[in-house]
Amino acid sequence: MLRNASRVFGSLRSVGVGSVRFSSVPAAQPKPQILYTGILIDNEWHKSESGKVFPTTNPATGEIIAEIQEADKADVDKAVAAAKKAFSLGSPWRRMDASERGRLLYKLADLIEKNHVYMASLETYDNGKPYFMSHQADVVASVKNLRYHAGWADKHHGITVPIDDDYIGYTRLEPVGVCGQIIPWNFPLLMAVWKIGPAIATGNTVVLKPAEQTSLTALYLGQLIKEAGFPPGVVNIVPGFAAAGQAILHHPNVDKIAFTGSTEVGKIIQQGSAMNGLKRTTLELGGKSPNVIFADVDVDAAVEQAHFGLFFNMGQCCCAGSRTYVEDKIYDEFVEKSAARAKKRTLGDPFDLTTEQGPQIDQEQRGKIMSLIESGKSQGARIVAGGNTWGERGFYVEPTVFADVKDNMDIARQEIFGPVQQILKFSELDEIITRANDSEYGLAAAVFTKDIDKANYMIQGLRAGTVWVNCYNVFSPQLPFGGYKLSGHGRENGPYGISAYTEVKTVITKVMQKNS
Ligand code: NAP
Ligand code: MG
Repeated sequence: MLRNASRVFGSLRSVGVGSVRFSSVPAAQPKPQILYTGILIDNEWHKSESGKVFPTTNPATGEIIAEIQEADKADVDKAVAAAKKAFSLGSPWRRMDASERGRLLYKLADLIEKNHVYMASLETYDNGKPYFMSHQADVVASVKNLRYHAGWADKHHGITVPIDDDYIGYTRLEPVGVCGQIIPWNFPLLMAVWKIGPAIATGNTVVLKPAEQTSLTALYLGQLIKEAGFPPGVVNIVPGFAAAGQAILHHPNVDKIAFTGSTEVGKIIQQGSAMNGLKRTTLELGGKSPNVIFADVDVDAAVEQAHFGLFFNMGQCCCAGSRTYVEDKIYDEFVEKSAARAKKRTLGDPFDLTTEQGPQIDQEQRGKIMSLIESGKSQGARIVAGGNTWGERGFYVEPTVFADVKDNMDIARQEIFGPVQQILKFSELDEIITRANDSEYGLAAAVFTKDIDKANYMIQGLRAGTVWVNCYNVFSPQLPFGGYKLSGHGRENGPYGISAYTEVKTVITKVMQKNS
């Protein structure tokens, strides 16, 4: 079933959301039962030490759907102690064969696959993303990601190095230790998996903090981790606010921090890591990715791809193509067609399979988006679609397109994290490389052209962690993802992502010589 779904996801990636057939998506559970709202420590569900809970809402309606136990320092201390104990030498986890760790990860992937409808429904209920996306993108990609990392468990080893004199040298790749992992709300399940998969494959233990808006799928994942048979303390999950993140960051027994979220908090994380044990740190932060469209393209196809590159996930993607640069010869046609495409975009109940766009995550994010839309209007950009909030309830924003955007406008410089496309005009190849790179971010970039020389020139010139050519939003667990500049450092996925969870130990042994 999921293999089918992953083929659909493949076409979703290559032709855009609007062209995907919905027939293979199984019916959702529009009001999924909420089973786990506690703090997972040592494979047991706990209430918060403080007795505090916090609400999580359905962004499509604004209604509270559950109360979640609120972890703070006292709970994080317990979680870190459990993770440290699970990591101690001689523990079941440290004594476990690497291939057995892989088997447990495969088992976890199987359990998600078995519960795919429930998990996709829960994601939509808590996050607001269309159920079609939760199923075909988030859940399918989570299963694939865990299977990829399962395969690494017994295949990541050191090297033997011949050195001078009577010595033999080799390296051991050892787990870093207790990993604190702090994740955002835009892909709640998938981000949890991106963090947990490589950490567990390489033998670490984990304390994971989901974003306060979207804890539910991470907590359900915790139950599946328990069911898969991971020993107690290997994965601990602490729902809560920044206080829980701070407690992880400052804890002396946390060896590594892996963070995805805003650049602003990313800087706090890096500083905190430095001052608290110089923790190993990987950061996946914001972006303002350029998408460069040359005049030789099939305009209709490029319009659809640029639309998908920005509006996917309500624009709440760190790699959203939020600066669409279009060559002057096709600029007017491109603007007109992009506006028409945005106006056709369907908004509504995220459980309706014809809905392309659900609500933004919360009122605060919607407020930020609306104020950036206002700044675009007041700074002189031309609005050709949308520009308002949408509907009577929930946190919806109309699909919005700005034309005639200038490089110095706030909407061309700041991350909007919403369904707002900026279209800018260019005419020269070298000019566009300079302009595309004129951003403090460097997460992703894209080029659309049929001219291989132009494509290669752009690939070399663009300063970004991922460059897509004639496509957008294509991801694979086999390929690294991460940023240049203020988009962070370190990479997730692929062999680089695995390396970020291991220390290298060099071993040098004196070889006894006969007659010495
Ligand atoms: P955020 O504030 O960076 O939050 C990300 C995670 O860090 C959440 O789990 C958050 O917990 C936690 N956190 C917040 N402040 C912290 C602190 N001082 N110490 C330790 N942990 C802390 O991001 P957000 O509020 O979810 O979104 C704001 C902006 O971040 C967006 O507009 C967007 O620009 C960017 N963003 C980027 C990504 C990405 O994938 N790169 C994803 C989401 C958002 P709480 O949820 O409890 O606050
Ligand atoms: Mg929610």
